[in-house]
Parts: sequence; structure tokens; C-alpha cells
Amino acid sequence: ADHVRSLNDSTNALVSFSTEDNPNPHGLLSSLTVAIKDNICTTALPTTCSSGMLHNFTSPFDATAVELLKAGGANIVGKANCDEFGMGSLNVNSVHGPVVNPYRTLNEELIPWAERERRSAGGSSGGSAAAVAAGMCDAALGTDTGGSVRLPASYCSITGLKPSYGLISRWGVVSFADSLDCVGVLAKSVDTVKTVFDSISSYDPKDPTAATPRIRGKAQASVEALVSALDANTSKPDLSALRIGIPQEYFPSELDITIVTAVRKVLERLMSLGAQLIPVSLPSTPYALSAYYVITSAEASSNLARYDGVQYGTRSPTLPGTDKSKPSNVYAHTRSAGFGVEVQKRILLGTYALTADAFDNYFLQAQRVRQLIKSDFDSAFRVPNAQLSSSPQNADGVDILLHPSAIRTAPPLDSDATSGLDPYLQDVMTVPASLAGLPALSVPAGSAADGWPVGISIVGQWGSDELVLRIGEIIQ
Ligand code: GLN
Repeated sequence: ADHVRSLNDSTNALVSFSTEDNPNPHGLLSSLTVAIKDNICTTALPTTCSSGMLHNFTSPFDATAVELLKAGGANIVGKANCDEFGMGSLNVNSVHGPVVNPYRTLNEELIPWAERERRSAGGSSGGSAAAVAAGMCDAALGTDTGGSVRLPASYCSITGLKPSYGLISRWGVVSFADSLDCVGVLAKSVDTVKTVFDSISSYDPKDPTAATPRIRGKAQASVEALVSALDANTSKPDLSALRIGIPQEYFPSELDITIVTAVRKVLERLMSLGAQLIPVSLPSTPYALSAYYVITSAEASSNLARYDGVQYGTRSPTLPGTDKSKPSNVYAHTRSAGFGVEVQKRILLGTYALTADAFDNYFLQAQRVRQLIKSDFDSAFRVPNAQLSSSPQNADGVDILLHPSAIRTAPPLDSDATSGLDPYLQDVMTVPASLAGLPALSVPAGSAADGWPVGISIVGQWGSDELVLRIGEIIQ
């Protein structure tokens, strides 16, 4: 525990530390230490969502994912820092302060922590990623609404899975944008990610959007043959059955060219193992980011309405001179004092998108774009989407898509890249899979010219998480 605390001094990855005894020391997960993102409810530790609004909130119940981890015997080490309510890409929007990326570039190995370049760990699950990368725990739970598990995994050189939407229960996960929110898993190896994912991915009647056993089974069955044909346990697996799509829209001009070089190396290796690489087009991709920010802000404005100092949230005293007996004064002051700038920005944007004047042009338009993105993916994949009752088999389709996880390496903290619209751009590669609810895994793929890590993302059809993980094992 002292070791973890001392690593925390340099990373700021954890915001509270567990002292609980393991209720099931002989469970399947009993050899694992796990950190939990601080927007996932736990009874033993506070759940602050990195917000002033919840700085002294402790949940009366555990999230289903936490319950399942505990039942499996996992050793919970603490709660992980994040962007406030999951809003951000760099883990700089947090009342607990920014998370520092623990990745050590080779030539920095001998430089003391205090003198190293301080770079972002990515966000919003930056604390989860940094805790794993620094060796403070074996695995961590994060949440991913638009990239918040994959981006920090990529920046910190670890593995991060955003599962298919609906596979892991959202019960006890503080909502940001519920139609996209997914619990994700971070660890150094794909194997550990899979162990944790397998123990928490199950149907939960408490989550109204949980995927039913029938639909899970249907999706799994459609990729079963391929999964068993791809043996990850040999050094030269035969990938001739595998069709990999390379989406041309995922190589935009903003993309660092040395990231392309790192990704190309992975592709060459997969090709040498027999995989077929097929260029594909997902034409609605350029509209994904705008649609994402409209939809998520609209959902957030509604989800965050409960924090008014009466139902939820720390009530702030009304300003001197204002009428305390007027509830609207209490609400307004509580929300201005309790929420950070980014959260307030999203609430305003989302509320606007839902007003009668803007609804058609913004919210509905964004929903239409979301539909187009989904159909782009459905026409690219070989297997049909198990969630749709009728969707044609596509013999020319691909089994998975591969693309860089991010357009750049981790930005330095305290630079211009952490403010303005720049952080929004970091998600340009990750939001399409989120809008479509698809499984996506980021695995390390070497480093860029600046010596910092690069990640490659594997995206599959809905419910093909096992296939995505198998390809991840082969790549890593
Ligand atoms: N960076 C994105 C945002 O700020 C994604 C956040 C997330 O996935 N939780 O909305």
C-alpha cells in the first residue's frame, strides 16, 4: 500500500485508497488488484466524479460491475481520478487536479520524476490508465462515452477495451450520456483485460439498456467459427481467414505521420501472417465528432439536472443579498459553485440543443448522423448486426477494422493543447464506434517520433468482443 501511495505522489492517479478486506480471497480474480474510476459507485469509498458537486458523496450501493468484481475476489485498491463526470480527453478537468502520464521514454529512464516531461495521461479515465501503467494495480475499470478508455490507454501504452454497448451493466455508473456510456477495462495485457471483462459482462435486469442473453448469444455465435480459427497461442498464427478493413477516413491530415508509420508496421506483420487488408470507406465519419458533442451534451444536460443541492449534490449557501427562500436561487448558486467550467459549458450547449428553436437543426440532425454512422459500419462488416432483426449477410465485408487510436501522442500538460477546442479533436478516431455502440480495443503499437506511445484500435461488429480481444492478443 505504501508503494501505491508513493507512486500516486507522482501520478495523482488515485483519489481514495481502499482499506477493505477481500470478501472472497479464493475467487477467480483474487490475484488481481483493481482500481475503479471515480464515477462508478462504491459503498466503501466516496464517488466524487471528480466534481466539487459530489466531493462528499458516498453511494449507498455498489455498481453491478463492482459487485461482480468483489464476488470474483478482486482486490480493490482505490478510486481513480477522471475528468469531471467523464467530460474531457486529457484528465485536466478534475477537482483533484490533473493526472500525470507515468510512461517513461527510454532516454528518460534515469531522470528523476520531478524533472521529467509532464504529459497528460489522457482522459477521461486518465487515473485508471495511469494507475495501471505505473504498476499501482493490475487492472482498472474506466468508462468510455466517446473514447475515454481507449485514448488514455493509447497515451499510456496499455490496453483498453470499450465493450459493445449494453454488455456491462451501467447500474451504479454515474450517467454522462447514457445512450453511449460503457464501462471499460484497462490493463497491461489483453489477457488481463479479457479476464476482467469476462467476469463483469453479464445481463443485469437493473440496467434497462442491458443486452439480453439471447442477443449476446446470437452475436457471439456469428463470430465463433472465426474466433476459434485464430489461434493466439502460437508465434505464427494463421490469419488467412481474417479480413481486416482499413477505413480511409481514419487517416486525416491532422494525424501525426510517425503514428502512421507505427501503425503500418503492425499491418505489415498481420499481412505477413496471411490476413487480407481491405480498404473500406465509412463516408459519414467526418460528421461524427459534431454529432457526438450535440448528443452527449443534450443527454448530459438532462442527466445532470438532478444535482441541485436538494435532490443530489453539495448545497452551496446562497449569495449574500439573494432571497434564500426562493429555491431557484439555491439551485442556481449550487450549480454555479459545484460544477466546473467544462461541465457548465456542456450543460449550456445541451440545453440549447434541446430547445424548441434548435431541436430540429441540432439534436435531430445529430441523431440522423448517428444513424448514418451505424449504417456505414453495418455495411462494412461481414456479419450482420445482431441487434437488428433483418440485416443482410455481406460476403464481401470485413471482420474487423483497424486504425490509429489517436491523432497524436499524449500532449504536454500545461500547454495550449489542453484547452480550447483541441481536446475535443483528440476523440476524432474514437467517437464513431461509440455512436454505433461497437466494441473497440486499443493496444500499444510502438512509439511515434517523439518517443511517446502509439495505440492501434480494433473495432468489431456489435457483440463481437471476443473476436476483437483475440485480434488484440495476436497484435500485442
Ligand atoms: N472526450 C470525450 C468527451 O469529452 C469523451 C469522454 C468520455 O468518453 N467519457 O466527451
